[in-house]
Order: sequence, then C-alpha cells, then structure tokens
Amino acid sequence: MRLILLGGPGAGKGTQAKILTEKEGIPQISTGDMLRSAIKAQTEMGLAAKKFMDAGQLVPDEVVIGLIRDRLGEDDAKGGFILDGFPRTTAQADALGELLEKLEMPLDAAVSIEVDDEELVSRLTGRLTCANCGAMYHKVNNPPKLAGVCDKCGSNELIVRDDDKEETIRKRLATYHDQTSPLIDYYDGKGLLKRISGIGTIDEIQQRLREAVGA
Ligand code: AMP
Repeated sequence: MRLILLGGPGAGKGTQAKILTEKEGIPQISTGDMLRSAIKAQTEMGLAAKKFMDAGQLVPDEVVIGLIRDRLGEDDAKGGFILDGFPRTTAQADALGELLEKLEMPLDAAVSIEVDDEELVSRLTGRLTCANCGAMYHKVNNPPKLAGVCDKCGSNELIVRDDDKEETIRKRLATYHDQTSPLIDYYDGKGLLKRISGIGTIDEIQQRLREAVGA
C-alpha cells in the first residue's frame, strides 16, 4: 500500500497514519516528525527549518524533497508506506511523482481527511505533544490518563508545540489553503483522490480510511 494523506493541520493525518501503518506493517513517513528530530538533534538543517515552522510557514521545497528522497530509498519503504504531511506544494507533488516513477512504486491513493477550519483551530489549541515520543493528546477531548504524564512512554514532558500557539495555527491554516489544498484537485485529476470526513472518533475515521483504500 502506497498512500498520501492530505488534510489541514490537526485533521488527524498523523494519528490515522500511525494506526494504519502499525496494522499494515509499513512505515509512516512524516516530514514534520523528521524536521522535529532534526531540531532536537540541533542539526544545521533543523535549526534553519525551525524558523519557518515557528512562523507557520512551509520549509523550503528542496529541504523536504531531499528528506523524502533519502527516506523512500530505504529498504523498509519497498513494501509500501504512508506519507503524512508530504507533499504540501505542487512542486513537492511533482518531485514525488518523478521519484516514485523512477523507483517503479506508483501511488495507490491520496486520501483527503476533511475537517472545517474552526474545528481544526479548536483541536490544535488544546493539543499536547509528548516531547519524548511524539504521542499526542488533547486537553479536553483526549487527555492523558494521568495529568501531565504520557500514557505511552511515561515521560512528564507533555508540551504545547511552538507551532500549536493560536496565532501560528491561523498562519498554518492560511498556508494550508494557499499552498497545500490545491493538491486535492491535483490528485483528483490523476484519478487518485479519495475524500473522507475527519469528524468522529479515531476508530470511525480509521474505518473510513480503510474502506477508502480497500485495506
Ligand atoms: P506537521 O507536523 O506535518 O504539521 O508539520 C509541522 C511543520 O513542519 C509545518 O507547519 C511546516 O512548517 C513543516 N513541514 C512539515 N512537512 C512539510 C512539507 N512537506 N513541506 C514544507 N514544510 C513542511
């Protein structure tokens, strides 16, 4: 299975990709996670990317295309993958198309997880992320079992991501509408688009995703 997940920030791409990749035994490839690891490791690329991320802007195409080119060349991607957060621009989508053609690994589908803007803002303003393992919670809708402690790894570093502050969230949404949402038509034109509603429980949305891709 080779999939792309499209959707605004907070639509649930990461959550849904994680569940489906675990069931299917394929990697979840998230450029956001790769960039956050580079920031944590304080690499030059990570520090340069952080400035864009904290401003709610996209990191330059050549940086993320380079990350994806390396990652898709790794062995575990040969059996399939779910791309979460990439591509985000038409230039990235074109580069991905060329790369997958060379690798003879065509995409099966691009799934758009659809959630309206006000719901996205309310989800992201309450979002808590584990600084250690990346697990995500919501202060109201999905709190950790023990306040301030990650259910998955036990770390007590549950933080509000720098780019989950309200002002940045609004900018990320504007960036999504300007630069990423045109990819819905892009993949529709290639006959690869599936649309699912991103409103409901995590399990309900997972079920819709599985049905959409015939998993
Ligand atoms: P995410 O975790 O997918 O919401 O990504 C967090 C931030 O990382 C985004 O707001 C962008 O600044 C940056 N980022 C992640 N993926 C990409 C991408 N494909 N292209 C450009 N910037 C990206």
